Amino acid sequence: MSVKLTGSCYCRNLEYVVELNSKDEARTSLCHCHNCKKAFGGNYGLTAKVPKDSFKYIKGKPKEHAADNGSGTTLYREFCDLCGSFILDGEPVKDHSRYICVGSLDDPEALPPKGEFFTKDRISWMPVIPNTFQKKEINE
Ligand SMILES: [Zn+2]
Ligand SMILES: [Zn+2]
Repeated sequence: MSVKLTGSCYCRNLEYVVELNSKDEARTSLCHCHNCKKAFGGNYGLTAKVPKDSFKYIKGKPKEHAADNGSGTTLYREFCDLCGSFILDGEPVKDHSRYICVGSLDDPEALPPKGEFFTKDRISWMPVIPNTFQKKEINE
């Protein structure tokens, strides 16, 4: 069953829609790496990987930040230049996938997590999410 999800930044300067053939096309995951901690300002990053063409902005234009992640990979991040909300996280897969910051969805409950990455960097008080895949790094 096809699904249409909407989302925005905190101030709604940016609004977007995601149209999926089914919820299975999205892969939500937690990432405990140091870059995600900094970028999200929390103890993990939470993104939903979706096919690139399923995502489009319907209002506003994001600001993009591109930088080396410290190991030779360029990471792209898109955010609102008015309120600073982080909307998209991108990797070299930017050409075929987008990573939506799940908290920016109007219904963040819509895409529950399937797994966790960089569990070796999980903060000590953070429990394991039950029934999800666990990867010590990206590819174990
Ligand atoms: Zn905003
Ligand atoms: Zn990460």
